[in-house]
Amino acid sequence: MNIILLGPPGAGKGTQAKRLEERHGMVQLSTGDMLRAAIAAGTELGRRAKAIMDAGQLVSDDVMVGMIRERLGQPDVAKGFILDGFPRTVPQAEALDRMLAGIGKKLDRVIEMKVDDAALIDRVSGRFSCKKCGAAYHDRYNRPKREGVCDVCGGTEFQRRPDDNAETMKTRLAAYHSQTAPILPYYRERGLLATVDGMAEIDEVTRQLEAALKA
Ligand code: ADP
Ligand code: AMP
Repeated sequence: MNIILLGPPGAGKGTQAKRLEERHGMVQLSTGDMLRAAIAAGTELGRRAKAIMDAGQLVSDDVMVGMIRERLGQPDVAKGFILDGFPRTVPQAEALDRMLAGIGKKLDRVIEMKVDDAALIDRVSGRFSCKKCGAAYHDRYNRPKREGVCDVCGGTEFQRRPDDNAETMKTRLAAYHSQTAPILPYYRERGLLATVDGMAEIDEVTRQLEAALKA
């Protein structure tokens, strides 16, 4: 299956995408992770993107569409993909449709993960992730089973994102509401949209997601 997880920053897209990857063998395509990899590699794109990301704004549609076009050309995408963080604007959604048509693929489902703004600020403020495999944790809601050791890969080093603070979140949430939420009617009109309660606890969100994929 080819799906999109659509929701505001901190909705739980990455957490759930990792679970779907494990259970269904699909690949997670996270544009945020791709941009952070470019920053870590010190590329020109990474340098330009860093200032925009740190300010909580969106990187240009041209850059993001180019990044996804290249990624969709790689062979592992044949296993099915989970888009996480893309598309984030209506022009990105339109470009995605054209790209998929061009390579003979289609979207099976777009799943909206609904979470209140106040909860999102709380979630990103407590978020940290494994340096080695990227698994996401939370200071209060989702700690590693063994203190200081990643459940997934056994890594012992963790990191926090510079844009995960209450101040930058104001801009990120404003960008979501003004630029990303208008994508919802785009997919609703095409009969692809399902909604899950992202406020529920992590296992319950997974159950609702699985049900939405089967429906
Ligand atoms: P996104 O990829 O949508 O930005 P993440 O999956 O990274 O969001 O989740 C954001 C933070 O909230 C992480 O710290 C994660 O552990 C935590 N989290 C994810 N889902 C839930 C949930 N259903 N309830 C409480 N905390 C959650
Ligand atoms: P995320 O990891 O999805 O929270 O993304 C982190 C940041 O990367 C965002 O705040 C944007 O600055 C940038 N970004 C990621 N994906 C996109 C996208 N599809 N379009 C524009 N900017 C993006």
